[in-house]
Amino acid sequence: MTYRGRFAPSPTGHLHFGSLVAAVGSWLCARHAGGQWLLRMEDIDPPREVAGSAASILAALPAFGVDPDVAPLFQSQRIAAYDAAFEQLRTAGRVFPCWCSRSELAAAGGIHRDGQCVAAADPDRLPAWRLHVPDIEVTFDDALLGPQRENLRESVGDFVIRRAEGFYSYQLACVVDDAFQGITDVVRGSDLLDSTARQIWLQRCLAVPTPRYLHLPLVLDAEGYKLSKSDQAYPVDPAAPLPALRQALAFLSVPVPMAAMEVPDLLAHALANFDPALLPQCSGHSVA
Ligand code: GLU
Repeated sequence: MTYRGRFAPSPTGHLHFGSLVAAVGSWLCARHAGGQWLLRMEDIDPPREVAGSAASILAALPAFGVDPDVAPLFQSQRIAAYDAAFEQLRTAGRVFPCWCSRSELAAAGGIHRDGQCVAAADPDRLPAWRLHVPDIEVTFDDALLGPQRENLRESVGDFVIRRAEGFYSYQLACVVDDAFQGITDVVRGSDLLDSTARQIWLQRCLAVPTPRYLHLPLVLDAEGYKLSKSDQAYPVDPAAPLPALRQALAFLSVPVPMAAMEVPDLLAHALANFDPALLPQCSGHSVA
């Protein structure tokens, strides 16, 4: 199996330092393995989307020297594939319609389990659709963080794969597209570690392969909080990419030469010295 990695940003703002770390980290892993690196724009959540940010992220990446091997995939153009996956799940009895509101669920303990709705069916409103989650333990070996296990029924219960407004969830779209793009290795931030068991369960329901996973440390600020896209503390400027690129490499424990270097040489140096086994093994750390 050849290596196929990917970077899958959501267009909810300009490229920020946390995304740059995920982009550079996944690119280094793919290139180190002699594999391909793909790009997927996860633009299937219009309410969360910030106008212009998909274009701005795509325009920024080449300045940091990380160019995808094939044309980017846009999830907004993949709705027919999500419809087909949804139909497959529905035909197999894996999903059920649900009219429960957040507050009704919160009052009933917060987690939707065993297909048991608290709200009655309401023919005047469209339902959300949830995936049945049985009482099983999902296990996987994170390439960096080691063995992981999660009892999905306990931790998340039956989860939404299509919202009442008709939008498909990140979990469904991600699983369908990782399979469609032939992704063998998912390298992404640790904020998504707790999505992985859900994605593995969905892969089993859809009978598609499970890739390997590696979750990079999350970029935290000096107080230990996740850097958000709105955080201006660590700006990423494609017009002057070197400071952020050097900082992203240092964050990933990749040796950064003292000497001034342009982006292509800096990345070549990083790749020559890159060893995935030396990536920091923690769920998050602060920017140096
Ligand atoms: N689109 C997700 C994000 O920007 C990442 C998805 C993934 O890498 O699986 O947080």
